[in-house]
Amino acid sequence: MRAIPPNRCAAMNDPSLYPYFLGPYGENDDLLESLVVGFLRDHVYWRRNLHPEDAPVIPTGANRQPEYIAFEAKLRKELHQLSAALKRSVPFHSPRYIGHMVSDLLIPGMAAQMLTLPYNPNNVSADAAPVTIDLELKVGLQLAAMIGFPADPKQPDCAFGHLTSGGTLANVQGLRLALAMKCFPVALRAAAVPISGLPESDWAAFNLSGTEIIGLLSRWQSFLAELPAGARAGWRQQLTAARIETLGIQAFFKAHPSLSPPLVFAPSTAHYSWSKGMKMLGLGRDQLRLIPGKAMRLDVPALAEALETCRSKQQAVLMCVGVFGSTEFGTIDPIDGLVALRNRMHLEGLGFAVHVDAAWGGYLCTLFRAEDGSLRSAEAIGREFASFPSQTVHAAVSSLSEIDSITIDPHKLGYLPYGSGAFVCRDQRAIELLTEAADYVFSEQDEGDFFARHRQLGRYIPEGSKPGANAAAVYVTHRTLPLDYAHFGRLQAQSIRATEVFLAEAERFVARCAEVVQASVPFQPDSNLVCIAINPRGNQDPALMNRFMRSLYHALSADPSKPLQLGEYFGSITTLKPDALGPSETARMLTTLGFPADALHESPDETDRIVVLRHTLMHPFLLDQAHGSSYLAGYFEFLERQIARVL
Ligand SMILES: *Cc1c(COP(=O)(O)O)cnc(C)c1O
Repeated sequence: MRAIPPNRCAAMNDPSLYPYFLGPYGENDDLLESLVVGFLRDHVYWRRNLHPEDAPVIPTGANRQPEYIAFEAKLRKELHQLSAALKRSVPFHSPRYIGHMVSDLLIPGMAAQMLTLPYNPNNVSADAAPVTIDLELKVGLQLAAMIGFPADPKQPDCAFGHLTSGGTLANVQGLRLALAMKCFPVALRAAAVPISGLPESDWAAFNLSGTEIIGLLSRWQSFLAELPAGARAGWRQQLTAARIETLGIQAFFKAHPSLSPPLVFAPSTAHYSWSKGMKMLGLGRDQLRLIPGKAMRLDVPALAEALETCRSKQQAVLMCVGVFGSTEFGTIDPIDGLVALRNRMHLEGLGFAVHVDAAWGGYLCTLFRAEDGSLRSAEAIGREFASFPSQTVHAAVSSLSEIDSITIDPHKLGYLPYGSGAFVCRDQRAIELLTEAADYVFSEQDEGDFFARHRQLGRYIPEGSKPGANAAAVYVTHRTLPLDYAHFGRLQAQSIRATEVFLAEAERFVARCAEVVQASVPFQPDSNLVCIAINPRGNQDPALMNRFMRSLYHALSADPSKPLQLGEYFGSITTLKPDALGPSETARMLTTLGFPADALHESPDETDRIVVLRHTLMHPFLLDQAHGSSYLAGYFEFLERQIARVL
């Protein structure tokens, strides 16, 4: 992505976003307050109207009793202390905050979550959440439509999605589902189930495509349905006994010696939740193979080579992960290349799932979606921007409909409160394989519609009890701001515009400071994260540069021991490693910074990587004018002063 050209620098805040947020100054306090108070009263009336004939349990004068008064005093004191302590929080609401992947919260989500909280629905099952479970299932469909999955619940191949506590568990769910799917045909063979289309060998059974696996699952279900009722249990038990979910990884692979615990491939920019997930599933961290990157993006030819080796050695592969918006750099992997590779390898006998980790970037897809659900052309999208979207990003988005499953975090670019990640798989029928009750094979509920079938959410999700209030927040947000370019997309558009302005300001900053430092934007971002590397001019020691960067960062971090107002701007920091940049990009970048191309090497004092400042440009009002210049211009002036101070 290029910087916005100077004649387009008049980029401004988008007034249509004004009612969405409480605002840096609490500008929309009246709106939020009237919603919260109004609906709290509404909740109270609901309580009262359940059985108005019941006498109040808490007597009217209870609040004048000494114990009540003492309790209230204690409560108020504790709350005052909490409220005072929270003033040391990180000021995510401010356009001066451009650090981590968080910003102000959307009023629709905050209001819906607070409104729902006192009803306390538990989205583990319909019994405990008669209203909010369906909202969660609808959120799954909304997200499915946003990325181009089939989203008509009347169709058998409709996608299915649910919320999780965050992207981490959504990624775990992706691994869990892929493992269940890939091992299922092997179990069908082991149980000698008499259905057509079973492969000739365990290896072939493990390497079927998602569609083929779902075909087998459907045939198995029809086989059961056609049996006399009394004969079903025996077959079910026989199959259950052969499944990996029963045997565990060790016994399952011992029973199928031509297979070994499968590998998972991910780019070296992958989030550490993938490592966690491998450990949680008992697959082990060793089975996670990180493919060295090229300018922080997945190197598809390198992956192809690794997969080719697996195929020739008959090493099973569970899944390949593509990242859509990397956590550290906002880069987007060539998902189209990944999908094409999956299709080619499948023809050559190596089948694996493709999961896209779009925890960060998922909502960017709203920019690519027209109101009728069709995909917008790169040209139509690009009219609003200097250079977004690149052809590679557009191609990545357009191939998302062909992947098997995806992670999207409403609590990141969805501007919603924490505790909301989402997992969506392309075909709802697959999820039956995760069910906790043994009726995954066939149950009366299967006869119902999409909602009836999935309402017992607790059977599929990694969690048990979970907040219905979060589902309400995501649902109401998606209803007030539909997931297309004309609605939710305006928010994403603003963040891309801010990124382009930021890049232009960064170029000016690099030129302005050229006498004292060699600075650069090390690689062009795909989305709304921008890194900056800065080396004091003349310095040839990477360790010294990294120490210098850490001192700069010190001025950009919220220090809880000092008044927050002392911090002028808030940023974040990360490191670039050659294994994610790739050798040629690493050399190019080192040269730009004034180092020899081979300056990085292993040592205890951080000389194998480059410390960079990392900026997330998601705040909706970054292009506001403060003291005559925008917050972004002000940031670079601040950075310049800090450089002078540290040097
Ligand atoms: C944030 C993030 C995660 C983890 O999500 P949590 O919501 O923090 O659990 C996973 N992958 C990517 C790419 C992320 O950006």
